[in-house]
Amino acid sequence: MQKRQNFSRKRKAILDVLLSTEIHPTAEWIYQCLKPDYPDLSLGTVYRNLSRFKEEGIIVSVGVVNGQERFDAVVEEHEHFICEECGAVMDIKYQLLPDSIDQQLARSCGLQINSHSLIFYGVCSECQKSAKVSS
Ligand SMILES: [Zn+2]
Ligand SMILES: [Zn+2]
Repeated sequence: MQKRQNFSRKRKAILDVLLSTEIHPTAEWIYQCLKPDYPDLSLGTVYRNLSRFKEEGIIVSVGVVNGQERFDAVVEEHEHFICEECGAVMDIKYQLLPDSIDQQLARSCGLQINSHSLIFYGVCSECQKSAKVSS
């Protein structure tokens, strides 16, 4: 019983970390965040919980950046920007695509569209600034 409670406490803590940040963290980042409060937490537990959350549809995977999977607790469809310099993953907060885009594609290609994801790659404003400073 004790063990089980402990498990769900960690599960909640992992989800809380994801919900409290917009940086689309890696499993490693979440692990480092929780380690001071949960000294017996293992990276494997974080990975296991993240993949379970994914299966449950509570979180989504944005993609792999510099070899590490990035997670998002915002599951509503939205677009992302990934900085190729620092690896930052940001939400695009503009409505870029018409709501009807899925239906348009379905109609013109005869496909059934369930969802879509769109990622832009480039250099974020912070990295552009530091490039200017150093040159
Ligand atoms: Zn950057
Ligand atoms: Zn996002």
